Amino acid sequence: MKTLRIFSFFLAVLSLSGCAVSLPEQSKTLLAMDTVMNLTIYGDTDDTALSRAEDLIYELEDLLSTTDEQSELYALNQGESVTLSPPVRDVLDQALALCSDTGGALDITIYPVVRAWGFTTSTYQVPDRDTLSALLERVDYSQVHLTGDTLTLPEGMELDLGAVAKGYASDQVAGLFRACGIDCAQIDLGGSIQVLGNSPDGDPWRIGIRDPEGESAEDYVAVVETADQAVVTSGMYERNFEQDGVRYGHIIDPSTGYPADHGLASVTVISPSATLADALSTALFVMGRDRAAEYWRSRDDFEFVLIGEDGSITISQGIADSFSLAGEQGSLSFEVIRR
Ligand code: AMP
Ligand code: MG
Repeated sequence: MKTLRIFSFFLAVLSLSGCAVSLPEQSKTLLAMDTVMNLTIYGDTDDTALSRAEDLIYELEDLLSTTDEQSELYALNQGESVTLSPPVRDVLDQALALCSDTGGALDITIYPVVRAWGFTTSTYQVPDRDTLSALLERVDYSQVHLTGDTLTLPEGMELDLGAVAKGYASDQVAGLFRACGIDCAQIDLGGSIQVLGNSPDGDPWRIGIRDPEGESAEDYVAVVETADQAVVTSGMYERNFEQDGVRYGHIIDPSTGYPADHGLASVTVISPSATLADALSTALFVMGRDRAAEYWRSRDDFEFVLIGEDGSITISQGIADSFSLAGEQGSLSFEVIRR
């Protein structure tokens, strides 16, 4: 697939060109949740907003990490009875509701299977079928009951919030910025971009959708114009390995224990909620194109862009007017799924 190389910085600059009023800009780059993150705020704003956002992200990372032995999630995964802190309870509430709504395509109890494939350590292997069957006995979000202040997981069950944690963090940062009176900002958590308001020049933001076949995060295949939304992408390219000529990706189909394999290379979800967009980008990847389209018809709070391994592009009706292919892709077509 041919691509146009546009730097995300350049995208921001694109939206600044022709700027009638030049807004002051402040930004911060940090490394958290295994991701380089960029926060940018515009306007005469609270000087402490960025450092408070940074602290908030580190706090969430400390609570939600599966590997940090001090984290609340780690204690839960050890089978301990844990008094949940408000953010952990909140993210679990939202995630479990989406596990249920997606019919288990999203399942935050998938961790034992993700680990068996080596995606937690990068020591990859293809587990045998018996191993996967045994591990799948421990995967079932419906057995996680959030009642009262404390939670104890059923024996052998372990949680992985990798599919939702960045989206949740993004929503929290957006809430903090809004509380600080900031109405123009870009929260880029690597694969999860959330914007507040329009871009500084008053036009919608232009968010690039990465080419799954591209060499870097700066290779874009399409652009979505948007305001006050999160744009979150799940891609095979994020983590995968090849064995005996077969490529295995990190998004697991909880009904089989094997990497989801419906011919999709990436799924982008656009929604006012970054938590929803993050959860659904993972879930639609598991569903595949046709089930994803059906699921979209059952809700009215998100839109999608599906990119197939064959380069085909399918989008949902709600973004048809704000979606365009980048560069030479412009001569190609894409299919619009309607309600
Ligand atoms: P994302 O990049 O948001 O799609 O999240 C992918 C990550 O979520 C993986 O690296 C796993 O840690 C975890 N994961 C994989 N498959 C699933 C699934 N079906 N449901 C929930 N989490 C998953
Ligand atoms: Mg996700």
